[in-house]
Amino acid sequence: MIRIEGILVSKGQGGVYSEKMIKGHRVWDPYRSKFAALAMIRKDVDLLPSQKVLYLGAANGTTVSHFADYVECVYAVEFAPRPMQDLIVVAGRRKNIIPIMGDATRPEEYAPFVEEVDLIYQDVAQPNQAEIAIANLPFLKLGGEVILMLKTRSVDVTLVPKDVFENTLAELEDAGLIIKDTCWLEPYHHDHACIICEKVS
Ligand code: SAM
Repeated sequence: MIRIEGILVSKGQGGVYSEKMIKGHRVWDPYRSKFAALAMIRKDVDLLPSQKVLYLGAANGTTVSHFADYVECVYAVEFAPRPMQDLIVVAGRRKNIIPIMGDATRPEEYAPFVEEVDLIYQDVAQPNQAEIAIANLPFLKLGGEVILMLKTRSVDVTLVPKDVFENTLAELEDAGLIIKDTCWLEPYHHDHACIICEKVS
């Protein structure tokens, strides 16, 4: 990942939303983007020019636009009409974002538009976050990774976040995924955990 004076940036030409610029690079704010928070916490996390990414929960394309500065292409899935309008505008400014209006719980609906990917990135803030990741595993190549941004309060507000986290890990492992790394996204995003896992079968 590119850092300038310790600040995470990406290098696409021109701003996409209202992000600050530093030395011609787009500042990637960890308080606004969970992936940027992860990259601040885990300095070895990277995105590579060869990667194809399936991005679930694209919203208005803020984080998607930074991904697109780093990777080969981003299949960006969003089901809400309002953010989708912004996402389409963002996609118009990049050649490698494929906006898909679809429900991530129904991957069969967008299967014709998505090829095999190296990474599934998920940030959907729904009760069934593990289930959604598992439903999309057919798009992931063997050895590919899932990065799941778990909003624990969306899963069950009556449980303590640590229990939601443990339950989610168990669900992912039951589906055959190997957990490679986990971390909490404090101080950037409260009660959010990141789970990185690998598809091995
Ligand atoms: N990842 C975005 C970013 O960093 O800019 C923020 C995502 S926001 C926390 C969650 C998004 O997931 C919302 O825009 C919501 O509409 C979308 N979402 C939730 N459930 C979904 C589903 N089943 N399919 C597609 N999108 C979904």
